[in-house]
Amino acid sequence: MTCYPHLLAPLDLGFTTLKNRVLMGSMHTGLEETGDWNRVAEFYAERARGGVGLMVTGGMAPNREGGVFPGAAGLFTAEDIANHRLVTERVHEEGGRIAMQILHAGRYAYSPECVAPSAIRSPISPFTPKELDEAGIEKQIADFATAAARAREAGYDGVEVMGSEGYFINQFLVTHTNRRTDRWGGSYENRMRLALEVLRRVRGAVGEDFIVIYRLSMIDLVPDGSTWDEVVQLAREVERAGASIINTGIGWHEARIPTIATSVPRAAFTWVTKKLMGQVGIPVVASNRINTPEVAERVLAEGCADMVSMARPFLADPEFVNKAASGRAKEIAPCIACNQACLDHTFSGRISSCLVNPRACHETELVIAPAETPKRIAVVGAGPAGLSAALTADTRGHAVTLFERADEIGGQLNMARLIPGKEEFSGLVEWFRHMLERSNIDLRLGIEATAEALTGFDAVIVATGVRPRDPGIPGQEAPHVLSYVDVLRDGAPTGRTVAIIGAGGIGFDVAEFLVEETSPTENLQAWLEEWGVADPQQARGGLAPEGPQPAPPARQVTLLQRRSGKLGRGLGKTTGWIHRATLRMKGVQMIAGATYERIDAEGLHVGLGDGGEERRTIAADNVVLCAGQVSERRLAEQLGQIIQEKACVHLIGGADEAAELDAKRAIDQGMRLAARI
Ligand code: NAP
Ligand code: SF4
Repeated sequence: MTCYPHLLAPLDLGFTTLKNRVLMGSMHTGLEETGDWNRVAEFYAERARGGVGLMVTGGMAPNREGGVFPGAAGLFTAEDIANHRLVTERVHEEGGRIAMQILHAGRYAYSPECVAPSAIRSPISPFTPKELDEAGIEKQIADFATAAARAREAGYDGVEVMGSEGYFINQFLVTHTNRRTDRWGGSYENRMRLALEVLRRVRGAVGEDFIVIYRLSMIDLVPDGSTWDEVVQLAREVERAGASIINTGIGWHEARIPTIATSVPRAAFTWVTKKLMGQVGIPVVASNRINTPEVAERVLAEGCADMVSMARPFLADPEFVNKAASGRAKEIAPCIACNQACLDHTFSGRISSCLVNPRACHETELVIAPAETPKRIAVVGAGPAGLSAALTADTRGHAVTLFERADEIGGQLNMARLIPGKEEFSGLVEWFRHMLERSNIDLRLGIEATAEALTGFDAVIVATGVRPRDPGIPGQEAPHVLSYVDVLRDGAPTGRTVAIIGAGGIGFDVAEFLVEETSPTENLQAWLEEWGVADPQQARGGLAPEGPQPAPPARQVTLLQRRSGKLGRGLGKTTGWIHRATLRMKGVQMIAGATYERIDAEGLHVGLGDGGEERRTIAADNVVLCAGQVSERRLAEQLGQIIQEKACVHLIGGADEAAELDAKRAIDQGMRLAARI
């Protein structure tokens, strides 16, 4: 008897049956645009081998004007179709099913050629779209149908018509973006016309025995979004127009409410999908922040959906389903919803990957093969870099000894996991712990490795991490001045007013730690209130009329940096705005362009303005230093003196380079080194 009976149950679609209730949601990886179709095929084949019931590709443009950016991939030529056939054949060889998403970006297209129902620019785009005329609309519909027919020709098992997240079809549905007065605007019947016409024509183009998924925006989270009655009406019409499955979309890209970031509670929006259950006869899929088999099983068991969609979890672990099915759920590398290597890469034009699995989208290049000559390898430091190196080396058959000075593994991850909204980091540490237990690694906790003790190894990997930078501010020796390590790791108490020196990732983390009494991520109702999310049955688009209602801050915090300009500029591309908004909601004062003069019993004395001529005292019970970090290289230097053959000493993670260090770089560097050593 499986632990996940609902998740692993087949799903009968009438003309075909999916082997389980797991859908790998669409992700833009950037692989198609590399032109290396073997690489694209291997990405999907590895996930098909991992047991997922149905996969959806990244969005393919139905035409040039609908591409998310100029040159976005689509099925435009016979060569495109042949390339996609490579993908579908590899997936089918592995026993998988795959549908191609057709994504028309409408006004979100990053191009002056973008088109939309009305000429209204999106707040997240520099381009005002061209308003389509009747012939233009007909062309878009025809292009959807052509793309679907070509998808079938390329061997896909289905298509997903992207109707949510504020893209083209969604733009027709709501008055927020559709101000037309012809038969495509005005009444809801008119605004729905495009979605339904697209679906009818797609169904007509592909025949009856082909999966057609419609991704429906169940809660827009923008002003003048859909009412719940409209959502239900659309769902019923979508079924009549020929869809085989309804997938859930949550929030438009321009919404100012987080929908997938790590601070969003797990399964935070499945209650919305549940409202649609029983209203239509076709399967309904729930989505967003579902990242473990337990959560997915619960979503299905509680009747919130017929199927679950997970996207990023398949970057973190392509074998998610097989591991769940074979009683190895603890081995599933967890997606911590950080966006650092997936969406942040996508939005900066880089190929996606995954913080916890650097092989994601690099399957053909980062290969972990058995070592030709097994070696005795010492790894010093069990933070993310050392753990990644040790586990990879062990997988390859090396004899690994892992030394850690602390009594626990995890390094800096153990501080990250304490930040409200970063609870997922605990799962990552747990996963590392479990993988260590089932490895052959000799783990030595509470041991400070000396250079002498390391001389007998064939190779030494130094992953000793970082230590806080000393900013050298007069008065910083006073007892009320603390470092982030004192506050986070050692639990040093702090008063009601706190000044934080340094507004990098750690300064922001410490500020969130100090203003949040309890984490809203652990309490769905509190989180919904904090961000102003309402039941769409009560409020159009799911926006609470009273707006965000954050709990009062636990402390009065001032966050400072020396640089001028916006604080938090170096935070994640897709998550920085959430951290800034959270601190703003909690009344945190953000000060740029500060010169630190001294700290005393009154607080922190700073100079402001160009020459620091404006003097200010920031009253503070405590001052917390978050002034960056420097490499911890003492051991490496000793080793350099003792071991003559320096080639066998390798520096990774923060010990190698402290600037802009994060777990993504640390894990990637650890794995890449151990893959070739
Ligand atoms: P960081 O991002 O480099 O920030 C260091 C901060 O200290 C800056 O605000 C810097 O601003 C200030 N600073 C530098 N030298 C100083 C000095 N001598 N005196 C006073 N202030 C000084 O480093 P971090 O905050 O320690 O974070 C470490 C790494 O972890 C970063 O790469 C970060 O991206 C990552 N991280 C990310 C997140 C996240 O994305 N949420 C969270 C945690 C950590 P000024 O020079 O302008 O004063
Ligand atoms: Fe998940 Fe982070 Fe990996 Fe993206 S980078 S898949 S959010 S763990």
